[in-house]
Amino acid sequence: MTNFTDLGLAEPLVRALEAKGYSTPTPIQAQAIPHVLEGRDLLGIAQTGTGKTAAFVLPSIQRLVESGKRVLPTHCRMLVLAPTRELASQIAESARAYGKFSRMSVATVFGGTSINKNRQDMARGVDILVATPGRLLDLIEQRFVSLNLIETLVLDEADQMLDLGFIHALRKIVKLVPRQRQTLFFSATMPQSIRELADQFIKDPALVSIKPAATTAERVDQYATLVNQAEKQALLTMTLRDPAIDRVLVFTRTKHGADRVVRLLGGNGIAANAIHGNKSQANRERALAAFKSGEVPVLVATDIAARGIDVSGVSHVINFELPNVPEQYVHRIGRTARAGNDGIAISFVADDERPYLRDIEKLTRQKIPLKALPENFLAEAAKIASTRSKQSVTAQQERDERPRGPRGVRPPRKTHEARPANPYAPRGRGGNRRRGRGGQGGGGRTHASA
Ligand code: AMP
Repeated sequence: MTNFTDLGLAEPLVRALEAKGYSTPTPIQAQAIPHVLEGRDLLGIAQTGTGKTAAFVLPSIQRLVESGKRVLPTHCRMLVLAPTRELASQIAESARAYGKFSRMSVATVFGGTSINKNRQDMARGVDILVATPGRLLDLIEQRFVSLNLIETLVLDEADQMLDLGFIHALRKIVKLVPRQRQTLFFSATMPQSIRELADQFIKDPALVSIKPAATTAERVDQYATLVNQAEKQALLTMTLRDPAIDRVLVFTRTKHGADRVVRLLGGNGIAANAIHGNKSQANRERALAAFKSGEVPVLVATDIAARGIDVSGVSHVINFELPNVPEQYVHRIGRTARAGNDGIAISFVADDERPYLRDIEKLTRQKIPLKALPENFLAEAAKIASTRSKQSVTAQQERDERPRGPRGVRPPRKTHEARPANPYAPRGRGGNRRRGRGGQGGGGRTHASA
């Protein structure tokens, strides 16, 4: 079997991989690394969980070392664009680990953190900058970041970037990057819109395709339970009481829904955290750390927030609500079954979600077996429902605890918020996908729906 040295990687990189306990390249690494080392552009169809970060980071580090150029103030040599802060942090963490013995400096730039800190980080320049497009453009406009010495450009999760409305930001950014560069372009799916975007960025790329969205699904044991929307909370509570369930990621379609699930679980004695775009960066990091350490082993997330969550040992993914975009389902269940492990995905399907279930089955080319409600469900659900009255008290407390403004005046409850384009907007009908700079740094005002 091929090892990393056979792929052409230098000793300091192989040593860093050994330190992480990785000795065998994943398929995308085996396919992509030689092309990238040769200096070719790359079009990679692969999703998170396949080892694609190392597939682009490792050979790029080697090329940066070989080119031997120096970092100049405010400049970076490699720019990785990612759709979410979580994914950006994850990539930076990997780049630091893989570049440990190659003396690579790494910085991240994304919204929700101090722009002054970004400015300081960039003052001396870095080898590898991992950024979300919105905040990067802010820094470029303020002349704290310059892109004209970039040797390698990576676009990660391009389909998600389009969904989030980053297209204009991406076009602006790419104009600022030298034409003479290497470009690595990754997307989990490759519809026509992504192919067209890719054509604007890459030249004569090597094509590496790892999993059509469908096949991650094969490693995950999946089943669905038909349940009324109103009884999902009771079913979730009962499911989570099962001692076989260890670390579980629960997906809701909306941020509001995620908060509600956390509150109701709390009322039933199950600690959980929510992670979504309305939470501060610090809050998300805390929730993730508590999840990773197992301290709070239930994390309730929206699709966007969950992008880039890389936690091994997620035993179960529970779809509290099904996504209406079937590819999202594959992304969700891919959070379990990381790096070759198996996992279990359970979907709670209300009547009006059955069409989504059919779409998912079509995409994954699998029939998802139905599992009946537990025998004692009605009686248990009634008990659990009786705790709900407590919830309204909790909700009131929460409202009362909202931070006060300068004169002790409570800010109005947010019904609208700045957020990235809505990935759930029906495709082709505009939704808020047309917005240019969404994402971490800015964006327009729209309904809080994800
Ligand atoms: P990614 O698709 O880049 O998010 O990687 C998925 C997970 O696989 C991460 O936890 C990586 O650290 C891990 N990983 C990457 N490459 C390897 C490898 N060759 N062997 C084992 N695990 C790996």
